[in-house]
Amino acid sequence: MSTSKSEPRSCFICGTSGRTSGFVEKWPIAGLGEVQVGFRICSQCGLVLQDPAPAPAVLNAHYVRVSTMTVSGSSGDLPAWWRAQVDRQLEFWRVHQPRRTGKDRPLAVQIGSSIGYTLSRFREEGYDVLGIEPSADAARFASDHYGVATLVSGVENAAMDPGVRAELVVATHVLEHLRDPVAALARCRDWMADDGHLLLEVPVLEAPEHWPNGYFTFEHLQYFSRRTLSQTLHLAGFRVATEEVLHEGHNTDSPVIIVLASLAGSTSDAAISHSACAEEVARASALMEAYLAREPTSWAKLAERVMSVLDSSKRLAFFGAGIHTSQFLAKAPAVSARVEAIYDSDPGKWGEEIGPLKVSPPAELPRDSEWLVVISSRGHQDQIYEDIRWIEADHGVRVIKLYD
Ligand SMILES: [Zn+2]
Repeated sequence: MSTSKSEPRSCFICGTSGRTSGFVEKWPIAGLGEVQVGFRICSQCGLVLQDPAPAPAVLNAHYVRVSTMTVSGSSGDLPAWWRAQVDRQLEFWRVHQPRRTGKDRPLAVQIGSSIGYTLSRFREEGYDVLGIEPSADAARFASDHYGVATLVSGVENAAMDPGVRAELVVATHVLEHLRDPVAALARCRDWMADDGHLLLEVPVLEAPEHWPNGYFTFEHLQYFSRRTLSQTLHLAGFRVATEEVLHEGHNTDSPVIIVLASLAGSTSDAAISHSACAEEVARASALMEAYLAREPTSWAKLAERVMSVLDSSKRLAFFGAGIHTSQFLAKAPAVSARVEAIYDSDPGKWGEEIGPLKVSPPAELPRDSEWLVVISSRGHQDQIYEDIRWIEADHGVRVIKLYD
């Protein structure tokens, strides 16, 4: 990997590169080595964006190879929160869906379609479905488990049949991962029917009391507020028809905004007043400062918990080689110094390095009561525990979930 794993980045809403507050840190990330990760608030419009951000080739390799969002665990079952999240999105869609066009089975295209579960649910609602997703592994899972067809590609260079007209484009938890959301959304316009709709969900930058530690994370290249999301949609030629903000009880790990948008007549610059921008900058800065002030304490609490259990064991391993583990190791040097092994159930991560350690498969888990294994995944920790509890039952290894 070249030295320029991350690059400076200008704001995709206003084009400015001016920085107001924020942070830059170095995290050890599986498959990438040590990476500079930073966030700033755009001094002009108040968008919170990752800058420096991973270079396009780095980001692409990360999604194709390492972070493929396949389902962890041997059963292939989705965690309950994942199903509940899609239930909720479908319910929003049912309540607000515009009148269908005359077609028997209109087409729904999902960008960042992952393992195809969401599209399988829209098929039950009467749609023909097509996914667009950069990971061939996720696309294979979509085909094998749900019979969902996927174009293996990024959004912007997707080789879509020119005759395709989608009545619905679904973009749930994908826009925050893209380097240029305006360009990606504008590309979606090319395949949409004139009276088509966009169903969008992203994390929303409010209610910080419901943010987890490590909220600003490597895979999220921007954090939208209601205002910056509306500007982004506007720039790409959409207008918001309905939106709903959920602070909790929504089966994601932080507040979200769900939006139904339709095509605007034409694209145009977002006409936002100078005072509205100044207000947005001030609001985002206050949220960022409060977050940065409380972060050290939240990581220290987790570190203390691990170290106190480690007292009665001698050797420490982590299960889960995702970004969250990388953040924790960067933030908790005392824990980091004691880790001797990292395991993950995703073959895409096996052999990759996090700091000095190579990620190993579950088959190589320790079988000795000297060891403590810490499960450091928020979304999948219960499933992982079920899968690896045999080392506890059969071999006396101590296993704890980081977020118990
Ligand atoms: Zn800006």
